[in-house]
Amino acid sequence: MSDRVYIFDTTLRDGEQSPGCSMTVPEKLRMARKLVDLGVDILEAGFPIASEGDFEAVDAVSREYPWAQVAGLARCCTLDVKRAAAALKHARRPRIHTFIATSDIHLKYKLHKSREQALEEAVAAVELARQHVDDVEFSAEDGARTEPDYLEKICKAVVAAGARTVNIPDTVGYSAPREYGALIGRIARALGDCAIVSVHCHDDLGLAVANSIAAVEAGARQIECTINGIGERAGNCSLEEVVMIFKTRPDLYPFHTGIHTEHLFAASEMLSSIITFGPQPNKAIVGRNAFAHEAGIHQDGYLKEKSTYEIIDPRSVGIPEGRLVLGKHSGRHAINQRCKDMGYELTREELDALYHRFTAVADHRKKGLMDEEIAALIDEGRRALGVAAD
Ligand code: MN
Repeated sequence: MSDRVYIFDTTLRDGEQSPGCSMTVPEKLRMARKLVDLGVDILEAGFPIASEGDFEAVDAVSREYPWAQVAGLARCCTLDVKRAAAALKHARRPRIHTFIATSDIHLKYKLHKSREQALEEAVAAVELARQHVDDVEFSAEDGARTEPDYLEKICKAVVAAGARTVNIPDTVGYSAPREYGALIGRIARALGDCAIVSVHCHDDLGLAVANSIAAVEAGARQIECTINGIGERAGNCSLEEVVMIFKTRPDLYPFHTGIHTEHLFAASEMLSSIITFGPQPNKAIVGRNAFAHEAGIHQDGYLKEKSTYEIIDPRSVGIPEGRLVLGKHSGRHAINQRCKDMGYELTREELDALYHRFTAVADHRKKGLMDEEIAALIDEGRRALGVAAD
C-alpha cells in the first residue's frame, strides 16, 4: 500500500514574491485554473496582509474555485489572522496558514522575542484562526535551524491549540537530507496521528527536492512546492520533480500524490508565459532539453529501444515525444531516422554523403541543425553523387 502525500502549491505566494515573478490578480487566476487542473491539494494564493493585491488574489481564487482548498498566509498576530480570514470568506475549504520564526537566530535578531513569547503568540494565533476556520496550518519559520527540543514543544502546543498541519520549513535552504529527515522524523513521532507534518524547502544548496523526499520517508505527508521551483532566492522544491520521483520510483518510494502528471508541462509553460523567465533548458522534467537526446550512442540506443536512455515517458508529463537533437554528436542511425521522418529514403551512399557534410557543419555549431538545413545537405549530397556518377 502506498501512502498519500499532499501537494501544497505555493507558486502564487512564495513563488510570486521572488524577483521577476510578480503576478497581477488576473494572472494569478489564470495560473490557479492550471493548478486546479493539475490537481494540487492546497493552493496558497497569497499573503493577504502584505498588499491589497494579495488580499484580492486570495479572495478571487476563493470565489472562482470554491471547491478548492485555498490557503492564505498570516503572521502570528491578530491583524494578519483576521485579514487572512476575511480574504478566505468565500472559500468552502479555507485554510489559514500562520507562521512565526522559532530559531534563536531569528528570535534574537529579527523578532527580539524570547522562545516563550514566540510560543505564546503561536498558540494565540492558532486559537484565533480556529475561531474563523477549521483548517489551520502552523509554520515554524527557520524550523530546520530551530533547537529541536523547543521545536517539538511548540509543535505540540500549536496542535493542542487546534492546528491540523505543522510545517517545519528549511527557510534558508541550509539543511541536508540526513539531518532534515532526522528532525522531521522526530516531530512526526512526537505528533503521531494528531497532525500532518509538512515540509517547505528552499534550494540554496540545490537540496530542496532531496530534503523534501527525505522528510516524506521520515513521516512528513505534505510537501510545499512550486511550479518550475520558483521562489525566494534559489527557489522552492520543484513540484514536477517530487511528483515524478514518486511516480517513477514506486519501488523506492511507496507514496503517491493526486497530481495529474500529464498537465505538468502545460502548467510549467503557462507560468513561463506569465512571469519573466522559464526553467533553465536542462531543468529536470520540464526543461527544453529534458527529453532531448544528442549523443550518437544515446540516439542509436533510444531509436532501437526507448527504455535504453529514457526513464520517463515524455507523454506522461504532457510533452509529445522525446526529441533527438541532431548535432555534432549524432550518428548515422539518428540522422537516417530524421530523414525518414522528413520523407526521404536515402541509399547507403546518400546517407554517407549526408553524414560527412552534416558533421562538418555541426562541428562548428553550438546548437543542432534545423530540418531545412538537413534537407539542403541531402540535395547537395545527391547533386555531388550525381556528378560523380556521370
Ligand atoms: Mn519560503
